[in-house]
Amino acid sequence: MAQIIDGKALAARLMEDTQQGVADIVAATGAPPGLAVVLVGADPASEVYVGRKISQCRKAGITSIEHRLPADTAETELLALIDRLNADPAIHGILVQLPLPKGLNAAAVLDRISPDKDVDGFHPVNVGRLSTGTGGLVPCTPLGIMMLLDSVIEDYRGLNAVVIGKSNIVGKPVSMLLLEREATVTVTHIETKDLPDVARKADIIVAAAGAPHLVRGYWVKPGAVVIDVGITRITDHDGVTKIVGDCATHELDHARAVTPVPGGVGPMTIACLLANTVKAAKMGLKR
Ligand code: NAD
Repeated sequence: MAQIIDGKALAARLMEDTQQGVADIVAATGAPPGLAVVLVGADPASEVYVGRKISQCRKAGITSIEHRLPADTAETELLALIDRLNADPAIHGILVQLPLPKGLNAAAVLDRISPDKDVDGFHPVNVGRLSTGTGGLVPCTPLGIMMLLDSVIEDYRGLNAVVIGKSNIVGKPVSMLLLEREATVTVTHIETKDLPDVARKADIIVAAAGAPHLVRGYWVKPGAVVIDVGITRITDHDGVTKIVGDCATHELDHARAVTPVPGGVGPMTIACLLANTVKAAKMGLKR
């Protein structure tokens, strides 16, 4: 039977560290760290994500300031808001919830966030720091994935890691983090040939394709560690909506360890956002 890596429990432990970090910052400055959350438009999924992030901030003792803008907001107006947040000493982290409504250039908006307040780790400066192994703020989902892996793997050197999906928010950054630990990393995607054969050579599989139950039992070699990042909402024959991951977990008894969906990567992502906010605030103290 594969070990189930409990993302909720790990996220709860990280939350305790974050609360301690907040207490340290309050002791040093008299004020808690501040996270600005910018939501443009009223995408229902984004509303849910933003609501969760704000309630977790409250739990951690981080001040969250929400900025809700209408879907027809001009890009110049959004950029002006980011400029104000960049200059505000009470704000240590800035998060612009994606996707942005049509007509707004997400790359231009993310580029405008100060790299030192870029708690999502999407700014090109932080992407560069990650790929050169020179610190900076690391995207939350990949950071959480590494903590889940660290709970079962001590030494990555020479292990074969196969990452399924090459997005800028998951696949590419997690590949960089695995490479930094000296795993041998293969990044795969929709055009990869013979993906099951490639996956079967892996000691570590990180599945981030958004393709329900893509990774079948015969793709996974005995003893591999499997991280399931996928989140897809499906409605079954009885009209019940549920969330499924990228892995057919019920076929993975021969794996060494797997993450569940839900309760694996998901809770770690928000916990890492809060940890990044504390990290950004501490970096600010040193400047
Ligand atoms: P994306 O759509 O930007 O990228 C998907 C990648 O997977 C692409 O590189 C594509 O080529 C590849 N891919 C798609 N189908 C494939 C297939 N059949 N075989 C091989 N490769 C395939 O997605 P993303 O933003 O990286 O997210 C991936 C999944 O992870 C989604 O389900 C998303 O909801 C989930 N996600 C979860 C969290 C979390 O906190 N748990 C965070 C971010 C993303």
